[in-house]
Amino acid sequence: MTAFSPSRDFALQLDAQDKLASFKEQFFIPENLIYFDGNSLGAMPKAAQEKSRQIVDEQWGADLIRGWNKGWWDAPARIGDKIGQLVGAAAGQVIVGDTVSINLFKLATAALTLQPQKKRIITDAFNFPSDLYILQGIQNLLDSESPSPSGRGARGEGKGNHEIIRIGASDDDITPDLVALESAIDENTALVTLSHVLFKSGYLYDMRRITELAHQKGALVLWDLSHSVGSVPVRLDDCNADFAIGCTYKYLNGGPGSPAFLYVNKRIQEKASSPIWGWWGQKNPFDFDLDYQPADGARKFLVGTQPMISMLIMEAALEPLLQAGIDALREKSILMTNFAAFLTETWLVPFGFSLGSPADSAKRGSHISIRHAEGYRVNRALIEEMNLIPDFRAPDNLRLGFAPLYLSFADLWDGFDRIRRVMEEKRYEKYPSQKLDVT
Ligand SMILES: *Cc1c(COP(=O)(O)O)cnc(C)c1O
Repeated sequence: MTAFSPSRDFALQLDAQDKLASFKEQFFIPENLIYFDGNSLGAMPKAAQEKSRQIVDEQWGADLIRGWNKGWWDAPARIGDKIGQLVGAAAGQVIVGDTVSINLFKLATAALTLQPQKKRIITDAFNFPSDLYILQGIQNLLDSESPSPSGRGARGEGKGNHEIIRIGASDDDITPDLVALESAIDENTALVTLSHVLFKSGYLYDMRRITELAHQKGALVLWDLSHSVGSVPVRLDDCNADFAIGCTYKYLNGGPGSPAFLYVNKRIQEKASSPIWGWWGQKNPFDFDLDYQPADGARKFLVGTQPMISMLIMEAALEPLLQAGIDALREKSILMTNFAAFLTETWLVPFGFSLGSPADSAKRGSHISIRHAEGYRVNRALIEEMNLIPDFRAPDNLRLGFAPLYLSFADLWDGFDRIRRVMEEKRYEKYPSQKLDVT
């Protein structure tokens, strides 16, 4: 039984029809490297590289403190509005700053304090662990008479008694149990918070449906867009989402540790309060009033001085994405994950791989996981010998991200060919199973 095996020429034909093909030239990619990890740390746009020199030499170097009045102070809101274009948010609702984890802390706490009589928080076991830790920390803080540094101790004995419902998942599951999720949302639910695209399997939640269901029960909804922003169309306003957070160093290519963003729907901006009151979220910070008064709109969720160089580099990095447009990116991304799923089936399943992502492209983001008992050692061999960079997520996921702006179909074909060769030649066998610090 031999299935159709696509040739490299077939991949080149797909490239010839690709309307986004020319964007690749706008990125710096090391010679002969195939980069399947743009979902974890996006590649560097050349525009961002050039801009970084201008920011350091002219803005920091020469403008010095005058820079605050020449586009630094406004940057969180200005760049927030640009990101808003990618996530379906009208101006004035997205603000850039801090990290995803910190923004989750601020917004989840705001959501819970908006509905103090409701005690249930719903999330799932597929969520990024940091998101779960933040929720546990909030629970520890709100519910304990004396919050415990270990998070254990007094939890549940205090005044609040919040309950975190984590819709279960076993290691083998790749999609959530929607029936369990939907039936867990009840009248006592204050907050439903989920990753829009799951970091391991790439499963894409139906934002509209979950948001509607939660609203029917009177719950608020907070979406983590870290793996969807810049890769799938997000329609926050249209879905009537309450809150969202997201990352800028993944598909937005903002550079390592570039600041995150948060979204607060206009409808609840007035009522929602930040749990961290800092001078960047103060109404008139340069009045140096001794008492806090929140700034208008989403800006009140800022806290203190932001990493301006990193933020401005990220702004430059957004340009190619905004030019390409999210719908064209999604169209190419679907072709890529379909091609990748097909190559997995024909080339890699015979070596014991299985697809760890939804088979239906409408239900996944821009990465797929392929699973193999030797996944960790295969990942090492690919990085160290084959000049291919995927990443590994326990227990057995080799995660392959396809950033449509700078990957060609020939790259995709070549990448899978390198994986196939590692399996054929059993190159992974010489690596220890002992894991490195960062996988
Ligand atoms: C990448 C990612 C984060 C990163 O959080 P930081 O606080 O910015 O380090 C958080 N949540 C999800 C779902 C992610 O994918």
